[in-house]
Amino acid sequence: MGAPINIFRLFSYQPCGHELLVRAVRPAASNADQRALNAADDIADSATKHLCTWWEQRCLQPECPHQHTSSLVGEMQEGPVGEDLFSSGRRRLGVWAARTKYGAPWMVLGTASTEAEFWQQVQEDSDLLDLGPLAPAELRHVYFLTDEDHLSSQP
Ligand SMILES: [Zn+2]
Repeated sequence: MGAPINIFRLFSYQPCGHELLVRAVRPAASNADQRALNAADDIADSATKHLCTWWEQRCLQPECPHQHTSSLVGEMQEGPVGEDLFSSGRRRLGVWAARTKYGAPWMVLGTASTEAEFWQQVQEDSDLLDLGPLAPAELRHVYFLTDEDHLSSQP
């Protein structure tokens, strides 16, 4: 049985460059059962889509009412650097993002007060090093939303 994992996806909204970082849980599924794996992927995908739609309607449109197109610019399936991305969302954050040797959309993400501190924490985490992160990291200003933020209530 594989463990549940957090999936982080970073979306960029053009033409303005608004950025949304979403965290959704992919439930545990047996690695031997392709249907269960697909179902777990579908749960994470639909949670992500729901969060994007909520943000577009509640936050983006009131602030910037013209037409946007979104694209996936980053994804990570490991624990990030720092505490912020493990806790609740519905807030703006500065997030360090480094490309990896595996190409787009794979990234290593996290929060730290400086880029040097970000890299120091990456160096201490073998799971993150296995992702093959490439310097430099870029500071991105994102709105962070998770599937544990109770979105039915008012913002
Ligand atoms: Zn805009």
